[in-house]
Amino acid sequence: MAGSQTKLKPGVVTGKDYKTLVDACKAGGYALPAVNQTSSATVNATLEAAAKYKSDIIIQVSNGGAGFIAGQRFPDSNLGKVLGAVALARHVHTLAEHYGICVVLHTDHANKKLVPWVEGILDHSEAHFRETGKPLFSSHMLDLSEESLEFNLETSTRILERMAPMGVGLEIELGITGGEEDGIGGAFDDRADNSRLYTQPADVLQAYDKLSPLGMFSVAASFGNVHGVYQPGNVHLRPEILRNSQALVQERHHTGRNPLNLVFHGGSGSEKEKIAEALGYGVFKMNIDTDTQFAFAQPIGRYVQEHGRAFQYQLDPDDGKPYKNLYDPRKWIRQSELGMVERLGEALNDLGSVGKSLAQ
Ligand SMILES: [Zn+2]
Repeated sequence: MAGSQTKLKPGVVTGKDYKTLVDACKAGGYALPAVNQTSSATVNATLEAAAKYKSDIIIQVSNGGAGFIAGQRFPDSNLGKVLGAVALARHVHTLAEHYGICVVLHTDHANKKLVPWVEGILDHSEAHFRETGKPLFSSHMLDLSEESLEFNLETSTRILERMAPMGVGLEIELGITGGEEDGIGGAFDDRADNSRLYTQPADVLQAYDKLSPLGMFSVAASFGNVHGVYQPGNVHLRPEILRNSQALVQERHHTGRNPLNLVFHGGSGSEKEKIAEALGYGVFKMNIDTDTQFAFAQPIGRYVQEHGRAFQYQLDPDDGKPYKNLYDPRKWIRQSELGMVERLGEALNDLGSVGKSLAQ
């Protein structure tokens, strides 16, 4: 930890503190994992991992994750997805500072259909801002990569103009990240020259021209990454795509090195050297979901195998002894939390953020 490094108050960072954190990541050549959430258990495991490894962290929730947090049978499902995100944000605002690390709160992929979801959250965020001087989230993502670049940037402009007065940043996506979620899978080799699979530096420059005067924005650029986990050999990362985008913006705008804030989607299962290379090109955020889902699930599987009878009988059928201390949800959910903490420790190591929390 550099002694001269700017320090921040622990807790959720927004506005200029969020910018300070992003700048520190880029200057230090490290990134933060952005961890998808499904419950208070995953949130707490994420905060625990950040505190244990003295790293700042990004907590994010998808539209579906927010719906689950509100309750799968929440009567109005669209409202549930807005309120689930609000509930998650309030949970994190209440607890994060006590873990002694900085947290970026973010909403994940919102395609054209989900723009109203983000706008619904912003209604609540603006109310929270009026009350407390802080928005609910540090940043939101719009994924309009399947639309025309023109539509993508027009909508992004409109949303960023609304968010910037609260210091809320915008993440956009340019180019298509492959993977199951996007209906692009399998034979990536055939697509090596598909311009939509690899973000074009000229598109990134247009986004920079339009959005950087408005507020904080970041770009998820496709450089062969895929959402989800595939057999080794199916993913061909080309981090030089990121370098080329940075170089073009730097040249046209006469900026310093790595002017863009870049985001790495579909990082699960990526080769570690390619991750390290991407970090040198201004990537400050790497999404992690698939790997932490597995890390959360696996210990429960092991626990149920080891204590099978406690999941079938309330009392031992042989001697009548109660199994309560084995089936108490806190026992097995805790195993999941520990699995997730361990996997996040690995991610924090890969991304170089261990011991680098700016919180003081
Ligand atoms: Zn993406």
